[in-house]
Amino acid sequence: MYNKLCPWCDRRSYSATQEGIWNCPYCGEDITSTPGATGYNKYPPGHEPKQDEKK
Ligand SMILES: [Zn+2]
Repeated sequence: MYNKLCPWCDRRSYSATQEGIWNCPYCGEDITSTPGATGYNKYPPGHEPKQDEKK
């Protein structure tokens, strides 16, 4: 299971595979080139929120 956060409408969509064309089900934009994450990782590699920083 993969998920992507749509950069256009900021909603998360899910798919069983990362292959092929991926259109956002909410706004219909092509988010194929958007980095995806697995179902176990909420964020794609390199996009994890920094947990060491405390305000
Ligand atoms: Zn969207």
